[in-house]
Amino acid sequence: MSLPPLQAGWAEALLGQPVGSEPRSTCADCAMASGPAPAFRADLKCCMYLPRLPNFVVGRILADPTAAREPVRARLADPRQRTPWGLERPADWSAAYAQALQDGRFGQQLDLRCPHWLDADGGTCGIWAHREATCSTWHCRVDRGAVGKAMWTALRRWLEDVQDLVARWCVEQVGRPQTWDAAEAEAFYRACGQQAEGLTLETIKRLGGFGLRIRSRELRATWRERAHRALPLRLEAGRWRVVFEDTQTVELRSYGDYDGLTLSRGAFAALAAFDGRPVAQVMRGLGAAAPDPDSLQAWVDHGLLQSSDPHDGLSRPAPRSQDR
Ligand code: SF4
Ligand code: SF4
Repeated sequence: MSLPPLQAGWAEALLGQPVGSEPRSTCADCAMASGPAPAFRADLKCCMYLPRLPNFVVGRILADPTAAREPVRARLADPRQRTPWGLERPADWSAAYAQALQDGRFGQQLDLRCPHWLDADGGTCGIWAHREATCSTWHCRVDRGAVGKAMWTALRRWLEDVQDLVARWCVEQVGRPQTWDAAEAEAFYRACGQQAEGLTLETIKRLGGFGLRIRSRELRATWRERAHRALPLRLEAGRWRVVFEDTQTVELRSYGDYDGLTLSRGAFAALAAFDGRPVAQVMRGLGAAAPDPDSLQAWVDHGLLQSSDPHDGLSRPAPRSQDR
C-alpha cells in the first residue's frame, strides 16, 4: 500500500525518500483471506472499519471523478457524521466496532464493512487515492516485523497529527458556513480540498509547532532503524507464542496478531540456544544447525530474539497496536 499522493508528498519531504509499500501485504489477493484457514472474510478483508475523513480529503474525493463519490455523499447527508473538520463516525458504529473487537471478530463482521468498499476485482477501495492515516499505513504483514511495524505506527501518528492540523487550518481559511446542510457542506469541503492542494510541509511544520516536531523525530528515528540492519552482540529469547505446529514446522507470532514466522523443527530447536551468551559463541556451538544471517536477522526483527544487553539500542518495547 503506498500513501495517497498528497500525504506521500508531505511524508517524502520529511523523510527524503518515498515511503514505499509492504509487498507481503498482498491486498489484491488478500494474504489474510486466503490459504487453508483464512483469518478474514474475503468479502471484508481488513476493511471492517469506518475512516474519519478530514474535510480536505472529503473535498478532494468530491472533486475526483475517478473516486467512488456516492458513499461519501451518503455520509455527508448524515448530520451525525458531517462536521466542519470532516466526516466522523457515529457513536453507535463505534460502539458496535468496539464490541466486535472485544469479541475477536475483526475481519469477520460484514455489517461493519466500510462504506467505501467496492466489490469489483475481489474487493477494492473506492477512495484509494485519498485514504486517511490509518487506512494508508495499516498492514497485516510487514517485511521487517516489529521494526517495520514501529515505523508504520509512527507514520500513522504523524499523519493523524498532520491531518488534524490541516483540517483545522482549512476551517480557518475557508470560514465556517453560517448554515450547515448537505449542499453547503459539500461546497465547504470542496473549498477545503482546494486549500490543501498546494500546502507545503514547511507550512504544516509552522502550524504544528513543538508537538509535530516530536512526532517527526519519532518517525525519522523509526525510519532510520528500519533501514539499518544490525544484530545485537548478545541475544536471548523474546516474547512469542506458538500458533501452529506439526511434525515438520512451528509457526511463531510475537509483535502482532497477523504476522509470524514459520520455522523448521531444527530451526526452532536452534532458537532455544540463544540464552544471552555472545551470538558468535552460540553460532559456533550450533555448528551446521546455526541459522543463516538473514534468518537470524528476521528472528530479531520479529522479536523471537531480543538483545540481552540493556544498553543496546536494539532492545525495544513492542509497538502499540493500531486503531483497527
Ligand atoms: S493489508 Fe488488509 S487487504 Fe491487504 S493483505 Fe492485509 S488484510 Fe488483506
Ligand atoms: S477507506 Fe478504503 S481502505 Fe479504508 S477501510 Fe474503507 S475500503 Fe478499506
